[in-house]
Amino acid sequence: MQSGCSLDCSFCATGKIAFKGNLTAGQILSQVYGMQQLYDRRISNVVFMGMGEPFYNYDNAIRAASLIADQHGMNISRRRITLSTSGVLPGIKRFIEEKQPYRLALSLHAVFAEKRRQIMDIEEKFSFEAVLEYLLQKRNDLQQGQLMFEYIMIDGINIFPDDAKELARWAKLLKAKVNLIPMNTSFNGMHRPSDEKIIEFWQALVSRGIVAVNRKSPAKDIDGACGMLAGRSTPGAAADAGLKAAAGQV
Ligand code: SF4
Repeated sequence: MQSGCSLDCSFCATGKIAFKGNLTAGQILSQVYGMQQLYDRRISNVVFMGMGEPFYNYDNAIRAASLIADQHGMNISRRRITLSTSGVLPGIKRFIEEKQPYRLALSLHAVFAEKRRQIMDIEEKFSFEAVLEYLLQKRNDLQQGQLMFEYIMIDGINIFPDDAKELARWAKLLKAKVNLIPMNTSFNGMHRPSDEKIIEFWQALVSRGIVAVNRKSPAKDIDGACGMLAGRSTPGAAADAGLKAAAGQV
C-alpha cells in the first residue's frame, strides 16, 4: 500500500524503515499480477496489508480493489478481497458509509488501551474503543462475515486469560472472526509464545463460541512474518525495493 509506513507498531520491522510515499493503484495491482506471473497460479484471495496502512492511501486502495474484482480485471470475488487497517477511524467510517463490499480486517492486537498504546502508536490518535464503538453502532450495515480482527500473539504481552476474555467479548458483540497470528520470530524485545500458550489462547476464544483461526506464518527462515519482511535489508534498500517491485522494475 505504501513504501515504508508512517506508523510505528513496535512489533513490526516495516515501521522502522522510512516512509517514502503512497503506491498508486497501478503499483498495487502490479504486485498482484506480478505474483500471479511469478508463481504461475491464479490468485484467489487478496489481502491489503503488510507494508503500510491502506486507509492512509484510501483512494488508491479502493481503486485497486475494484480493478482486482472487476470481471474485466482479475475477476476475484469481492468477498475474497480484504482491506486491513490498524484502526484509522476516518477511513473506517468512509468504508462503511460507502458500503464497500470488501472484507474489513481490524488489526486490534490488544484489547486494553494501555497495552495497545505500548505496541501501537495509532492508539494515541484513534483509540480502539472508539473504533469498536463506532463499528457497534454500524453493525447492521456490515455484511455477515465482513469484519474480522487480526491479533498478533506476543509472549508475555497480550495473551493472558483477561486478554482472551475481553477479545472474545468484542468479537461476540461484533460477530467478528478472530485471526490469530503468532509472532514468527523475536523482534524488538518481543517474542513468539510457546505452542502451548498459542493453543491455550486459541482455546480460550473457541470455548467462548468465537471463530478463531490460528494463522500459520510461513517463511520463518527469512523473518517473513506479518510486517517483518523489511527485517533483513537496509532501510533505504528495503523501501526502494518496495517501490521498484510495485512498479514492476524488479
Ligand atoms: S503493522 Fe502495519 S501499520 Fe503497523 S507499522 Fe507495520 S506496516 Fe505500519
